[in-house]
Amino acid sequence: MYVDSHCHLSFPELRERLDTIRADMAAAGVDRALCICTTLEEFDDVHALARDHANFWCSVGVHPDTENLAEPTVDDLLERARRPKVVAIGETGLDYYRLEGRSHHEMAWQRDRFRVHIRAARAARLPLVIHTRSASDDTIGILREEGGGEARGVFHCFTESMATAEAALELGFHISFSGILTFKSAEELRAVAHRVPLDRCLIETDSPYLAPVPFRGKVNTPAYVPWVAKQLAAIKGIDPEVVAEATSRNFERLFLGAETT
Ligand SMILES: [Zn+2]
Ligand SMILES: [Zn+2]
Repeated sequence: MYVDSHCHLSFPELRERLDTIRADMAAAGVDRALCICTTLEEFDDVHALARDHANFWCSVGVHPDTENLAEPTVDDLLERARRPKVVAIGETGLDYYRLEGRSHHEMAWQRDRFRVHIRAARAARLPLVIHTRSASDDTIGILREEGGGEARGVFHCFTESMATAEAALELGFHISFSGILTFKSAEELRAVAHRVPLDRCLIETDSPYLAPVPFRGKVNTPAYVPWVAKQLAAIKGIDPEVVAEATSRNFERLFLGAETT
C-alpha cells in the first residue's frame, strides 16, 4: 500500500471527480493521502476532505506564492491546527522562482510568513511541509534561526541540490520525491534520491500537477504515486514493495504520531 504525502484534492479539477479518484486510488493500492492547504480561504474545503474520509488527513498553511489573500498570524494557524485530522503546518517556505522583477530584498514578506509558520509548528508540535524553490539557502538559514529542526517535517517535491538535501536531513527533515523523479531531464535529482536514506524518504504526487511518466502532461491524481515509488525503487536497486512499506512507515511516524484525534 502506498501513501501520497502531498496532494491538492481541494483544487476544482480534482474535487469535482473525487469519487473516481478515490476508486482509482483503491485500485492502485494507494490507501492514504495528505491534503495540503495553500490559503486560509481554502482551509475549510481541505479540512472537509480529511473530516469526511477516514484515509485523508490535512495541513493548514499559506503557500509562499499566495498573494493578495489573508496573511496568517501564528494564532490563525494554531486555531485551525487544533481541529481533528490536521497533522501538519504548510505548505510554507520560500519561492524565488517567480520574482516578477522583484529583488530578494523585496521578498521579505515571504520570509516573515515562513517564520510565522515555523513558530506555529513549534507551538502546535506539528511537522512542517516545506516548499522551497530557487531559495534553498534562505530556507535552510531561516529554519536554523527559528529552531525549525525542533518541529521537523518534510521538504516536499524536492528538486534542490545534494548539499540542500544534506542540510535538511541534518535538521531532522524528510525529503519527498514527486513525479519529477521520472522526468528524463532529472538526472541530478535521481543522484540525490540515490543518496537520501530510505528511512527519510517520502513519496508524493503534488497532484493535480507534475504527473509522472507515463502520464506526463496529464492531470495528476494520488492514484499515480506508485509510479514515483517504482522510480525511487529503481534508483535504489530495491523492490517497489520495499519503498511502499518504508515510505508508509515514514509517513505514519512523521505525521500520524502527532495526530490529536
Ligand atoms: Zn509546493
Ligand atoms: Zn503543493
